Amino acid sequence: MYLHTVNATTALSTFDGSGGGTDQLASGWNTGGGIIPHGPLPLPPSATVLNYGQGLFEGLKAFRREDGKIVIFRPYKNAERCRSGCTRLLIPPVPDDVFVSAVKQCVRANAQYVPPYRQGALYLRPLVFGSGAKLGVSASDEFTLCVWCSPVGNYFGGGGKGGVEDVPPITLLASNVYRRSCEGGVGGTKFIGNYAAVFKCQSETKMKGFNEALFLDANTGRGIEEAGASNFFAVLEKGGKKTLVTPGLDKGTILPGVTRDTVIRVAREVLGITVEERRLSLDELGSCVEAFCCGTGASLTPVGEVVEEIGEGEEKKYKCWRGERKAGEITRRIYDVIQGIMWGDGEEEIEEKYGEWVEVVEPEE
Ligand code: PLP
Repeated sequence: MYLHTVNATTALSTFDGSGGGTDQLASGWNTGGGIIPHGPLPLPPSATVLNYGQGLFEGLKAFRREDGKIVIFRPYKNAERCRSGCTRLLIPPVPDDVFVSAVKQCVRANAQYVPPYRQGALYLRPLVFGSGAKLGVSASDEFTLCVWCSPVGNYFGGGGKGGVEDVPPITLLASNVYRRSCEGGVGGTKFIGNYAAVFKCQSETKMKGFNEALFLDANTGRGIEEAGASNFFAVLEKGGKKTLVTPGLDKGTILPGVTRDTVIRVAREVLGITVEERRLSLDELGSCVEAFCCGTGASLTPVGEVVEEIGEGEEKKYKCWRGERKAGEITRRIYDVIQGIMWGDGEEEIEEKYGEWVEVVEPEE
């Protein structure tokens, strides 16, 4: 296995938050480093990522299509999110072309590990972090972009040749103790510390027999934000009309998932479904007829129940299905269109329209 690294040495003193300053910083990224065997990275103990957590990551996948071609799904969306996270963490924003080129080089070097068509994917993990030595509590002067990868199967059993109806619905526990994010914070970025901060909640959630935690907003403890490492969608039915609702991104507390964006666009543009991005209260789940979590790892995973912890040993259960306890019709239709676009075996007309979402990795560039 190989990983790809890119380094930036930049004087952060030039960062003034204005467009010009950001561009100046971004130009500090170079393509030095290149492909090296997967293994330990040299890092000073005083590196800002180790001491102050100055780092973020991304997650995306490469797929092998039926004709053997390897494609990456929407890498420019990850590049965009990475850039905005960098800005928040005072890391020089990685230019999109540097990000996508590094990801592609990593895929190319590891092409042999991309699983066969519809049997998994090569998960790609770009990391951007302060790699320079620093004693004072402040941002680094040196940064590294490193992309490592691993072949993966299908999360929660989905994404394979069968449809999402074969994926067993999961049960989410809405914690009344832990919060993931707050307004003005970093919940809207893939800041590395966001993940360690929820390990305890996730571990306790699993110990109690639930599949994942569902995080509520820090202000009211009623607004749904997102689940573990995935975004949350509910189909609400009122007066016979179904609406797909997902928590909005306006407060900056929710990660702008690439899959979330894909679901919204496919639902609206391909399937003509009404989609609302807005505050979604737990209390609204009384009219929920379908729900799912989505993310690069989880793809679309049906949610069977949301359980709210009320007090010590007291719970309230919201049932998120009608008829049979499995993925509902809207979930299935969205899932099938997305899978078709990813694997290149969907309807031709749709593929033509969304062809730009996939980036082909040519064997040589
Ligand atoms: N929310 C969180 C906290 C995540 O970590 C992730 C992905 O890793 C997502 C949502 C889903 O994002 P994406 O669809 O880009 O994978």
